[in-house]
Amino acid sequence: MKLDQIQFTNPYLSLPPLCYQRIMPTPLKTPHLIHANETMAQVLEIDAGELYTERFLALLNGEFQPEGSDSFAMCYAGHQFGFFVERLGDGRAINIGSLGKWHLQLKGSGRTLYSRGGDGRAVLRSSIREYLMSEAMYGLGIPTTRALAIIGSPQQVYREDWENTAVVLRLSHSWVRFGTFEYFTHHRKFKELEALAEYVIAESYPHLADKEDRYLLMYEEIVRNTAQLMAQWQSVGFNHGVMNTDNMSIASLTIDYGPYAFLDDFDRDYICNHTDGFGRYSFGNQPRIGEWNLEALMLALSPIAPAERLKVIHSRYFGIFHERYTAIMGAKLGLNELTEGDYDLIGKLQNTLEELKVDYTLFMRTLSSYDGERSSLLRLGLYHKPMNEWLDLYDDRLLTNSIDTTERHTRMLRTNPKYVLKIYMIQEAIDAAKAGDFTVVDALFRIAQNPYEEHPEYERWAGATPEEYKNKKLSCSS
Ligand code: AMP
Ligand code: MG
Repeated sequence: MKLDQIQFTNPYLSLPPLCYQRIMPTPLKTPHLIHANETMAQVLEIDAGELYTERFLALLNGEFQPEGSDSFAMCYAGHQFGFFVERLGDGRAINIGSLGKWHLQLKGSGRTLYSRGGDGRAVLRSSIREYLMSEAMYGLGIPTTRALAIIGSPQQVYREDWENTAVVLRLSHSWVRFGTFEYFTHHRKFKELEALAEYVIAESYPHLADKEDRYLLMYEEIVRNTAQLMAQWQSVGFNHGVMNTDNMSIASLTIDYGPYAFLDDFDRDYICNHTDGFGRYSFGNQPRIGEWNLEALMLALSPIAPAERLKVIHSRYFGIFHERYTAIMGAKLGLNELTEGDYDLIGKLQNTLEELKVDYTLFMRTLSSYDGERSSLLRLGLYHKPMNEWLDLYDDRLLTNSIDTTERHTRMLRTNPKYVLKIYMIQEAIDAAKAGDFTVVDALFRIAQNPYEEHPEYERWAGATPEEYKNKKLSCSS
């Protein structure tokens, strides 16, 4: 399809007007393409050649409105660091239309009704981080929003310093957040609340459409899928950093990439967000915050679903989380099926890695070729005794594993990525991009798409994080 053949629809605009503001993007000056995602273009059936045209640049810059476009920003509320904010909304993201199930959104495209004093812009560094990371999560098999392209502009905004701006064209099957429901419940707009629930069911849970207790069943699925998402984040060492309820997807996708990070050394107390003084959103706290956020959603749904039954569903969250996390970790350890002691084996592994300050990704990848020869693993930790003790347990467990070593290795190499995009790697791409060189963005993009491949040309990113870059924090300002 050529860009001029695009026919947008706007299903969200069928909701009551309180749910959104119709608003046009404000173009940036002299934009240029930084990177485009040809895989995603193929999914949307847009010809790859179109991505490198002036027309495409104009689409990202809000200067070209395809047929059917009727752009808008979405209204929502949310709990930020535990405190309720009664109106947030898309302060710098503008929805430009939907292609089938994909809803396209420009992030950083100017002010809206919900900008709350902000400038509606996004800076280059945070846009590169979002662009690369959504693709990386997808490559790891973790539910996420996606991105089609990123453009930059010499037009500047002030953050910690004057910085160049950028726009990411993001896509998702749903942009509805827990906080979207909270908005209507808080303002006692129950007609809108119900309309939103119907919309979300049609969009994300269509198999529930004709069920009488569908709001309850929708909540049940959200609880289950959120538990699954948290298990996936924990298993891969991903710290989101800002798990406010407005950043929690009703479709259980990883959404709104801010000061996120992957673990360097395994550390449950790691906090990637510089402004998170008490570690509310620390790596180890994420499953608990998932539960807290689901409780906020439960309260938001209580005007339209029976509270007692919502509570019962909510109370099952941790059981599901632990079951999912153990299953994923069991697979990462190459265990064909789980046995009773495996939960304990996983817990002891966490303690060992933490005590020895071992790079999590590197350890799991090295373990994926473990055949009894320990030196490559022992080398990763500060000292040997705890690692040897855990490997003794692992050796014992492998005796009853019902697959052979070769099969275990094959499976583990498909389950434990060789590469995750750590802060220092993305920073390298950002520094190069600031100097006008987008080749590092492209290199990380390729790794992001295939993190389980060897990529010998990028071997320098496969090791432990260099000491000077370890366990850094990131600023929230973006
Ligand atoms: P976040 O934590 O980045 O997802 O953002 C929280 C809220 O602040 C959302 O409502 C954003 O739309 C809004 N916001 C963040 N940055 C800006 C900005 N530069 N201009 C306007 N609104 C913003
Ligand atoms: Mg957000």
